[in-house]
Amino acid sequence: MFSHKYLVLCGLLFAAIAASGCSSDGTTTTDSSAEPVTNSSTPGLDTDLFVSGALASGITTEPCLLSGGTQTTCYVIEIAGVPADQEIGPFCPPTIFSDAELGGIWFDGGGDVYDLDGDFIVNLANLYGDQNWLLYDPNSGDVNITDTQVACEAAARPNVDPEYQNHCVVCSIDYYDGGVTQTLLIPTEPVALSSPDSIRNTDVGVSLNGVVLAPPAPVDAILGAYTIAAFDDCGGHVNPVEGYHYHGATGCTEIGTQVDGHAATLGYAMDGYAILGMLNEDGTEPTDLDGCRGHTDDTRGYHYHAASAGENMFIGCFNGEQGTIQ
Ligand SMILES: [Zn+2]
Ligand SMILES: [Zn+2]
Repeated sequence: MFSHKYLVLCGLLFAAIAASGCSSDGTTTTDSSAEPVTNSSTPGLDTDLFVSGALASGITTEPCLLSGGTQTTCYVIEIAGVPADQEIGPFCPPTIFSDAELGGIWFDGGGDVYDLDGDFIVNLANLYGDQNWLLYDPNSGDVNITDTQVACEAAARPNVDPEYQNHCVVCSIDYYDGGVTQTLLIPTEPVALSSPDSIRNTDVGVSLNGVVLAPPAPVDAILGAYTIAAFDDCGGHVNPVEGYHYHGATGCTEIGTQVDGHAATLGYAMDGYAILGMLNEDGTEPTDLDGCRGHTDDTRGYHYHAASAGENMFIGCFNGEQGTIQ
């Protein structure tokens, strides 16, 4: 299990390659013709849904102990740690004159998703009502970016090195061998809890393209140090512990299309229940979600619908006993 020890992080940005399949506002442009279709009435993980290249090895099963004390069988899922179907980045805009194509997004849990363009950088002092924000060189217009491994790790610590206050924080995935492989044990059959379990500081689940779904980004600590832990347009960034990881659902990984117009599956929670996109195909959000953002239907059984990225979370709590990350 990994705590979210490092605050921030992001990745490679200077190449300024727009994440393929994701527009700058975070919506997906994935071609739906080749998407897998699931229509299982049994809640639980469909191993066929993982994208080719998402896994570092084939899925197996082994005995496991869940968070509620249940001894059962878990899938052993070794993820590659980089998105199999998406270029990562860009993250921080290079200058205050950059447009949204050259940067990713930022969200702080207040509900909004901001494009990381030059205007956003200039407006930080107003946005957060604190004149100590100055994330750029006023003479050149260049944005202060952590452009070495030493700098990114000093800025990504819970106690940010004061030298890196007023920086847009980026860590290149190249510092971490191109991705951090992790092994997740997720129950083959979810075991419902009598009362939900809260989200703590360990990962919430896994995406179908091979990346962990992280707990909420610690935005108070990030903003308190006058830093922005830039996300790319898919809601992910890089840190030294987990490599590339997602903090919000932006549509990029919703590839498990449902036959009945229900939202598509984007991944699985650590309790084995599916996490679907927030909205159904007709653009509506289910109205009967519980506090964990889950509900039950005859086609899928119990499943979650992701929150909006602006809420800085995927699900509100766990409805089932969780497996572990090794
Ligand atoms: Zn993070
Ligand atoms: Zn649903």
